[in-house]
Amino acid sequence: MIDFSFSEDQLLVRKLAREFANREAAATIKECDETACFNRDFLTKMAAAGLLGLSIPPRYGGTGNDYIALGLACEELEYVDTSLRVILSVHVGLNSLTLLAWGTEEQKQRWLVPQAKGEKVATLAITEPSAGSDVAGIQTHAHRDGTEYVLAGEKMWISLADIADHFLIIAWTDIEKKKRRDHTGMSAFLLERGMKGLSTATIHGKLGVRAGNTGSIALDDVRVPEADRLGFEGEGFKIAMFALDQGRYTVAAGSTGLIRACLDASVEYAQVRTTFGKPIAEHQLVKEMIADMAGDYETCRLLWLKAGWLKNAGRRNTRETSLAKLYGCAAAEKAASNAVQVHGAYGFSSEYNVERFYRNAKGAQIYEGSREIHKLLQADYALGLRADKPVRCTLPRPE
Ligand SMILES: Cc1cc2nc3c(=O)[nH]c(=O)nc-3n(C[C@H](O)[C@H](O)[C@H](O)COP(=O)(O)OP(=O)(O)OC[C@H]3O[C@@H](n4cnc5c(N)ncnc54)[C@H](O)[C@@H]3O)c2cc1C
Repeated sequence: MIDFSFSEDQLLVRKLAREFANREAAATIKECDETACFNRDFLTKMAAAGLLGLSIPPRYGGTGNDYIALGLACEELEYVDTSLRVILSVHVGLNSLTLLAWGTEEQKQRWLVPQAKGEKVATLAITEPSAGSDVAGIQTHAHRDGTEYVLAGEKMWISLADIADHFLIIAWTDIEKKKRRDHTGMSAFLLERGMKGLSTATIHGKLGVRAGNTGSIALDDVRVPEADRLGFEGEGFKIAMFALDQGRYTVAAGSTGLIRACLDASVEYAQVRTTFGKPIAEHQLVKEMIADMAGDYETCRLLWLKAGWLKNAGRRNTRETSLAKLYGCAAAEKAASNAVQVHGAYGFSSEYNVERFYRNAKGAQIYEGSREIHKLLQADYALGLRADKPVRCTLPRPE
């Protein structure tokens, strides 16, 4: 049976996220974007609203909502600005849900509980200066020294790098396997700010997500106790892919918020701007752009909702999540481009939000698996070259 209505809980989370975004961020986000300044107040207020603990069970400090509620929150946040949704994608999607699935009870108590309560902010670092799509091309390595690992390397293009307290780091632990590019030689580690040898920096001059923080992490022989390795040695790649399943889901859901923001802005402008004696909303070619936005919003939403439904049912959803991310981000970029077009020259200036939407939309075609990587994945599924196999740890069904 298919039910298209939302539960009271889901609607409540949507309202909470919408109110936070409108009340706390909408008025100032343009300035944050223009000055490329991350507003830490947003984190504090999102934590107070419980948004940083979405989909984490109450026994680990979270709100215990299901994964559809998380998607709805992402949609509402990205309606106002992509940088707000990125906070949820990274903190909840990439990091906390991964800890929830793969962490030991001790690790969940130590790392996840303060994250879900919003006392600590977390991120995931896979990408490096010389390797993004090609995860097996990373150079960061961790060698054992007694009961510790010593981590050395550099991570780059990491969301919240210069803000986060907790870092989930992917590194090679088997150098022979690294030479053969056998990703079963990678492991995952939990690190925290303040550790000797760990430093972070902010990347300046980004095209979009300028109100968000993106940065680099330097690991200069950081000593990490064995107890802070997530999963078994050799499970780092699987953990990274698992994390991306959750992060991509939030990106897909967020993209529909961006499409809706473009649609609303375009509808409003098209009704007041006149050319050739009538509002541009009456010109068929303008209507076509608006129709595409309206249609893409509905179809992309169905795609992420299906992925969320599978997550709620405790079923594997890598294929569906990848498709939702691929289509959602492509449609968001198209919607933002057309929203600028509808606004004419005014859309080309920062006077209207659509200029920011257009710059923000481009990033999602690159991060959490680029457009090309998701096309390759979808083709491989269709060609029977790829199938989702069971993994040791799965996302728990909402409690
Ligand atoms: C704003 C932002 C935030 C980010 N946040 C994070 C984060 O929090 N954590 C993290 O680990 N990383 C993060 N990233 C990094 C992101 O995941 C990588 O940029 C992404 O994986 C692409 O890697 P790359 O930039 O090295 O491009 P490359 O992998 O060098 O690719 C360059 C181009 O070649 C294409 N390409 C590559 N391989 C193939 C192929 N086999 N077939 C066809 N085309 C191909 C790509 O699609 C792309 O167009 C972020 C990036 C950005 C821009």
